[in-house]
Amino acid sequence: MESQQLLSIESEFGSPLYVYDAEKIETQYNRLTNAFAKVEKLRINYAVKALSNISVLKLLKQMGSGLDTVSIQEVQLGLHAGFTPDKIIYTPNGVSMDEIEAVARLGVQINIDNLSILEQFGTKHPQIPVCIRINPHVMAGGNSNISVGHIDSKFGISIHQLPHLLRIVENTKMHINGIHMHTGSDILDIEVFLYAAEILFDTAKHFKTLDFIDFGSGFKVPYKKGDIETNVEEFGRKLTKRFLAFEKEYGRELTLAFEPGKFLVSEAGYFLAKVNVVKQTTSTVFAGIDSGFNHLIRPMLYGSEHFIENISHPKGKERFYTVVGYICETDTFGTNRRISEIKEGDVLSFRNAGAYCFSMASNYNSRYKPAEVLWKDGKAHLIRERETFEDLLKNQVEIEL
Ligand SMILES: *Cc1c(COP(=O)(O)O)cnc(C)c1O
Repeated sequence: MESQQLLSIESEFGSPLYVYDAEKIETQYNRLTNAFAKVEKLRINYAVKALSNISVLKLLKQMGSGLDTVSIQEVQLGLHAGFTPDKIIYTPNGVSMDEIEAVARLGVQINIDNLSILEQFGTKHPQIPVCIRINPHVMAGGNSNISVGHIDSKFGISIHQLPHLLRIVENTKMHINGIHMHTGSDILDIEVFLYAAEILFDTAKHFKTLDFIDFGSGFKVPYKKGDIETNVEEFGRKLTKRFLAFEKEYGRELTLAFEPGKFLVSEAGYFLAKVNVVKQTTSTVFAGIDSGFNHLIRPMLYGSEHFIENISHPKGKERFYTVVGYICETDTFGTNRRISEIKEGDVLSFRNAGAYCFSMASNYNSRYKPAEVLWKDGKAHLIRERETFEDLLKNQVEIEL
């Protein structure tokens, strides 16, 4: 989006503010579906946890997307947004048997990622189709915080437990209709992904009643200049070829599923915040904004680099800044960033603010969560109001003391 558009949206709705560009979400969705155009049955399940605003879910529904959910509340949000249960898959980790049964009762596809629950569920409900989440133990990406396929990961059923898995399925006579992996949030290398896919194909051969194979996500998007992004087109060509060959071998048509979050919404998002103070110290110049890790925690939580620009004065002389928040903790958004000269009152824009930004926001320091705006067809639509003092008191019980 243009700086001018963002500035005028900020002046209308105030700061801090999240703005999402509907067209970018659509472009990304189409890129992915085009890359797999040769697959007869393709299913994209948007990962709700990345950005769970109802209007964004509705937008994705319009495009034909399904949903990937990790909690019963996300399932309920999806149903509320108008998705039918058959368009939702539920891939939780470490949730109770009760919750899994409750989601199954809603008619949503269950994905189970441990043998204990699988055995219990299969024993009680052998007729309900279940997908199984496999951990292929592939280290995708370099950061152990986000590579969930490796040996120490809590996610998925280890590929080495296949004999036990098969025994449970045989003993319970349960119905396995899908097989799934999600190897991590940042797959840099298509070859690594294809390697993991081979493990999934090998596993799939053991199950005769599959309807789909779900390859999870892990698409990488660029955060800063020079970052690599997944070459979706090349990936599409290579995996399609392999998938079509596998279908032949398997002897029946299968659905190929993905569940991208970041890929669909990350680049569509802008986080706008105003500079409260420019503070020169003995070692740096701080730009302190009217926000903190209560609104955008990714830089502090796992070191992600969001590109920051001064949209109020984009053409000024560049200086080095350390951009920090107003929270009474260390909350540094970026160190030694080259940004066009900042004056107090300027609006900074943070890129890639669509995925895991608002959805991780909190009320720490008793601040309000920001408003959210969807930019669609040349219009700014408010899709979440800024919180008020009432929201801070909500659910608190005042007792007589
Ligand atoms: C979070 C998650 C995703 C989405 O990952 P992205 O990196 O945002 O694309 C997909 N599948 C599962 C099971 C997840 O937990």
